[in-house]
Amino acid sequence: MPPSPIIVWFRQDLRLSDQRALSAAVATQRPLLPVYILDDQAAGAWKLGAASRWWLHQSLNSLSNDLAVLGAPLILRRGNTGSQLAQLAAQSGATSVYCSHCYEPWAAKLETDLKRSLASSNAELKRFSGVLLKDPGTVCTKAGDPFKVYTPYWRAMNAQGAPPQPLPRPDAIKAVKSKIASDALASWGLEPAGPDWAPGLRAAWHPGESGANANLARFLDEGLTGYADMRNRPDKTGTSRLSAHLHFGEISPHQCWHAAAATAARNGDSSGKDLQTFHKELVWREFSYNLLSHWPNLPETPFRKEFAAFPWQEDTANLKAWQRGRTGYPIVDAGMRELWHTGWMHNRVRMVAASFLIKHLLIPWQQGEAWFWDTLVDADLASNAASWQWVAGSGADAAPYFRIFNPVTQGETFDPDGGYVRRWVPEIAALPNSHLQAPWTAPASILSAAGVTLGQTYPHPIVDHGLARLRALAGYESVKSANTPADRQDLGRRFPATK
Ligand code: FAD
Repeated sequence: MPPSPIIVWFRQDLRLSDQRALSAAVATQRPLLPVYILDDQAAGAWKLGAASRWWLHQSLNSLSNDLAVLGAPLILRRGNTGSQLAQLAAQSGATSVYCSHCYEPWAAKLETDLKRSLASSNAELKRFSGVLLKDPGTVCTKAGDPFKVYTPYWRAMNAQGAPPQPLPRPDAIKAVKSKIASDALASWGLEPAGPDWAPGLRAAWHPGESGANANLARFLDEGLTGYADMRNRPDKTGTSRLSAHLHFGEISPHQCWHAAAATAARNGDSSGKDLQTFHKELVWREFSYNLLSHWPNLPETPFRKEFAAFPWQEDTANLKAWQRGRTGYPIVDAGMRELWHTGWMHNRVRMVAASFLIKHLLIPWQQGEAWFWDTLVDADLASNAASWQWVAGSGADAAPYFRIFNPVTQGETFDPDGGYVRRWVPEIAALPNSHLQAPWTAPASILSAAGVTLGQTYPHPIVDHGLARLRALAGYESVKSANTPADRQDLGRRFPATK
């Protein structure tokens, strides 16, 4: 009897290097059937957003080309994962499915269901780690509980030692001999069709494993030294821009971790703050998955239950102004336009724009989360939900609600020369730095010299910062009064002063 084939089921691990499921399958010397299944129904409310679908199309194209070079075509299927895998097993004679563990609640449930259904037809599902540096559940408190606060999580993870070194890319793959039908990628309609809103995404990104590696190499050359200081500057390319590549698994966090460590060592800076800061950011991703896998309602409900009592306002006009980058606050508008054009926004500006929606406009964080989900190329259930809850103050280890970002001073501090605002809000580019972040403070003569007519060429601010701040604090009072005395004490202890 020839050995039965293995289905290598690609998910959020669209790469060939450091792909544990693939390497384990290759090591068996059995024939392989690489497969990707688009199962929108399983993902339910969290099926991929529009920008992610655009990215997925490019990424599958790239993976498909890379696999073809190694001798095994990628089979594409759409629909119910269980039925598709059963069909593929029947058509190819496969008795094993190898895949990477995924941690979204729907993805974890799918794995459990598949394990059972495959076992009932004498097939096995083998799951491998690699999407994360550490499986959630392997980093916990001494009492065995999940961490709710980042810093002890980081310390506990560090105490376990460095993550494993990445695995090499296989040299060749023995493919199944039988001809197995595959969907044509174009038939999935992942790319926008009329209107084509993706030119900005195409100009900004090169999805796929080679694009991921090129981005990492660029970051190691140009960005790692100075990262700790420059990562907060949206006007510079001070961060790695690896988030979408990491989300789709075109590069593993292990590769990023070790490549950064090796570069820092070569630069004589192996214990320096740039490397540690970069590693810590990778661990924020881990921490977010730790929260999501232990609190699966994180994307929908406030982690701190008392925030359910917050007096949110439904305001379609303000929500639209925020989405379109027309709030009248240049740093917020620049961020929202960067997002719309490129599918990405700098982290500092994400925090400012999210805070503005939640605290200045009192719009529920879930509505901002949904917009990011649809428009970000790096939309990630864990990082998006944990970050929105962090900004809202309702998260596990969150910024205190009463610490309200001032969008003007944030702009002045982190975009000091105005390069970021001028790039994305060109209609106010001719304003001098002294008024760029707050055009309404400019005298009429300066506005006129810069060709700015507030209310016509650029909006008046849709809310007044001072009043909005007081209103947000008043809203927060209702949350506090919903707290238990113990919660109040806890908040007071952790966040003793407003900023
Ligand atoms: P770098 O600074 O180079 O960091 C390296 C990697 O570390 C990133 O690629 C990312 O994987 C991880 N990382 C960095 N910061 C964070 C963080 N705060 N939380 C989790 N992981 C982090 N990130 C996403 O990947 N997907 C999201 O959907 C997402 N939504 C966000 C929503 C809000 C409201 C906010 C404030 C942040 C969100 N982030 C999200 C986190 C962060 O903004 C992005 O990961 C980061 O901007 C990506 O840019 P980079 O790759 O250049 O980051």
